[in-house]
Amino acid sequence: MTLITAAGILFPTMVRQNSSNADVIVVGGGTAGCVAATVAARAGVSVLLIESRTAEDVGRKACGGALSADAVQVVSEIVGPLTGAEIAGTITSGLLGLPGDSPAVELDEPGVILNRPVLGQRLFSDALESGATLMTGHTCVGWSDRHNCTVHIRRPDGTETDATGLVIVDATGFRSVLTKAAGPTHPDAPKRSEIGIGYFEVLPLAKDLDRPDRAVVQIAPEGACDGYAWVFPMGSRLVNAGIGASLAAEDRSLKKHLRSYLDGSDLIVAHAPQTGGGDVTTAVENRHRAGSLSSGSGMIPLRRPLAGLVGDGFLSAGDAACQANPLHGGGIAPSIIAGSVAGRVAAAAVRRGDCSAAGLWEYGVETMRVLGAPHASQDLIRRLLSGLTPDDMAFVAGEMASAGRAFRSLYSSSPGLRAREILGTIGRAARRPALLKLLFESGHHVSAIHRLYRNYPESPDRLGTWFGRVEFAVRSFDRLVQGGRG
Ligand SMILES: Cc1cc2nc3c(=O)[nH]c(=O)nc-3n(C[C@H](O)[C@H](O)[C@H](O)COP(=O)(O)OP(=O)(O)OC[C@H]3O[C@@H](n4cnc5c(N)ncnc54)[C@H](O)[C@@H]3O)c2cc1C
Repeated sequence: MTLITAAGILFPTMVRQNSSNADVIVVGGGTAGCVAATVAARAGVSVLLIESRTAEDVGRKACGGALSADAVQVVSEIVGPLTGAEIAGTITSGLLGLPGDSPAVELDEPGVILNRPVLGQRLFSDALESGATLMTGHTCVGWSDRHNCTVHIRRPDGTETDATGLVIVDATGFRSVLTKAAGPTHPDAPKRSEIGIGYFEVLPLAKDLDRPDRAVVQIAPEGACDGYAWVFPMGSRLVNAGIGASLAAEDRSLKKHLRSYLDGSDLIVAHAPQTGGGDVTTAVENRHRAGSLSSGSGMIPLRRPLAGLVGDGFLSAGDAACQANPLHGGGIAPSIIAGSVAGRVAAAAVRRGDCSAAGLWEYGVETMRVLGAPHASQDLIRRLLSGLTPDDMAFVAGEMASAGRAFRSLYSSSPGLRAREILGTIGRAARRPALLKLLFESGHHVSAIHRLYRNYPESPDRLGTWFGRVEFAVRSFDRLVQGGRG
């Protein structure tokens, strides 16, 4: 029986006991966790969802809220259509600012800008309505007994308790509280250079935006030479503006750099040509006066997914498993996809009575095929881009961004490379022979790692060999990029 209180959504029986049991315990009530809990509960197994935030704060996380049209479709198929209040802005195109003096590129990239907290609250309600037991304000502090799938939880009053499940799903986001300590099969922790840090603000505008349907992204703005800044319209009077950089960057004063980007960017002028950029300038002034509506920073893994996503009675999903897109950090759709597969596989394993790593293995196979393969390819492309000079990076990013151009074909693992388009890129890169050679050679590596992830081992005993091949592929690629850089 459910009790909804002002302080949160609690099951009184749960908080009174010294320990809790459920078939599936999902730790973390973000996008991955809520979806995993909902899918598993709907499949008829008992589910406990543990979330450290209060019920009111679920969904409030640092995020740009951008979803491409493709991602909207995938997400809608899993969680149902996105409703009016969840969509803050509708985007028909993008403007990509390139490093240096290169002109900005228009992108034909429709999508939406989400009101992230509203979506988070809806997914949380879905979990509740599906019959999952929700513990808000409860923080999982780690494993109590890994072998017995028992996790240790701190209650809001500071007292502690345990919860035991047949399957534990770690959906704690970047913190990956349990994944870090689970050692499912392989330690494969992200390096600092594979972690992004982002800062965002939701800024009110004094005047209407001229182009509320256009998202602006600036690659390598000052202060984030290996990252990007964004201005995403949430209607005509509000923007989600932010900046992201590598955690390995020396200067990580992102708030300062976002301010200087907003104050000085030509792109913002282009964003609101009739007001000469006044909209966002006014927004910045507003912020100085009244403060932004919300702001915050957060970290995001920018790399291929962890090799070992599954252990005995254990699955890792979403940012905890490094399943966000390594090129731009988009992780909402991937975490929803992964959460949905995790919930389905966990419930099926419980019903079959086999929650061993082998019984849960299909989670890894399926998510690696759908997310791992493209993300492993994009991880290599990110590594390539971060090794280029600003001028070469501008060229490559421009080629990548221009719809239908060769770069997409060159780096696509799908058949049907369009020879004419490839020749087009060759023509445009004729004055950059070293870059051209690097692009061709890296194209081979990108396709190879895509195949490797699509052929994720069918059973846990073959993971070691597979992981060795992945490490070799990534090391070889890094050497290629370093060599190509000269
Ligand atoms: C600055 C920034 C901008 C971004 N912009 C975009 C964007 O525009 N588009 C996009 O698609 N993606 C974006 N992302 C990425 C996206 O937000 C994440 O990939 C996505 O939210 C991952 O979902 P998740 O469920 O795995 O983790 P999260 O959403 O982080 O959820 C984890 C949940 O676990 C809870 N938790 C953590 N530790 C514990 C614990 N010990 N015990 C209990 N609960 C715990 C947290 O409170 C949280 O609710 C952005 C990320 C950042 C940082």
